[in-house]
Amino acid sequence: MLLKQIGEFGFIQRIRNGCLIRPQGVVRAIGDDAAAIAPEPGRLTLVTTDLLVERIHFLTDAVTGEELGHKALAVNLSDIAAMGGTAREAFVSLAIPERYPVEFLDGIYRGMKTLAALYGVNILGGDTTGAKEDLVICITVVGSVAPERILTRAGAQVGDAVCVTGALGDSRAGLHLILNNIPVESEMAALRRAHVRPEPQLREGRLLADSSAVTAAIDISDGLSSDVGHIAEESKVGVRLFADKLPLSEELGLFCRRYGFDPVSWALAGGEDYCLLCTVAPSLLESLAGAFRESFGRPLIVIGEIAEAGVAEVVFPDGRRVFLEAGGWDHFSSDGGPHL
Ligand SMILES: [Mg+2]
Repeated sequence: MLLKQIGEFGFIQRIRNGCLIRPQGVVRAIGDDAAAIAPEPGRLTLVTTDLLVERIHFLTDAVTGEELGHKALAVNLSDIAAMGGTAREAFVSLAIPERYPVEFLDGIYRGMKTLAALYGVNILGGDTTGAKEDLVICITVVGSVAPERILTRAGAQVGDAVCVTGALGDSRAGLHLILNNIPVESEMAALRRAHVRPEPQLREGRLLADSSAVTAAIDISDGLSSDVGHIAEESKVGVRLFADKLPLSEELGLFCRRYGFDPVSWALAGGEDYCLLCTVAPSLLESLAGAFRESFGRPLIVIGEIAEAGVAEVVFPDGRRVFLEAGGWDHFSSDGGPHL
């Protein structure tokens, strides 16, 4: 079935169910000229937007609608997580080419609603329009945080530990499998999954924020080398990473051995990991790491240290030092894998 058969209003009626899951504080939801929500007393409002464009950020043939909806919302929730916040409301806008079946669009909403329900997020509105060629998904998420708890990119101090909350490079490896039409065997399924179904680390972000030990934070979207650079820049400090401390999954190791890539490069420059990167006051590191492990059953991983402004390096176990370039990768612009 095509959208033109049911029209925009038919489509809104179709997707409306299950959008309002937490009615407290919501005065008007979908169906009015604007959503109306009560501000949370004593808290800052966080607002973040991400735009996903077909052929730039995703290939429709390579993902299900559900995966696409999940990821489109997850990347926004990840930004709220990086601020130490709680996600509250989402606004979803779609520009839809005529050829898209309504069933695929249903899938997008199913993916979004499932993830939204998991984190208590309402979908309170947005817009829908036609498009000539490519599907565009734009989501804005509103969240909140206590003013004294907010995590920002500024605040890292010389001597702080640099930590991450999950493995690096898997998502980029998953993208490589997708772009090269490599069938995903079960032993590599986690790589594809890391790319198409990233889990926003909202609970982790709140634990970091509540600890008072974290001096700066960011979520890893562009890639470790770029994102740690953002913290260094905003905090006016330098950074030193240790190559042998980077968390590499078994699956990434297998992938790199099979296709002849260097896992450290993929961890540094991969991107779209959507785990959190934070800097931690050294005197509070042990207690924070203990609390993190107790809550999530996995370690908070120390990968480096904050150094004097001007330092940007990766130290290898043999003593070699490599300049830490903001690598990252341009979406779909090249397919030789990331490089330093
Ligand atoms: Mg971010």
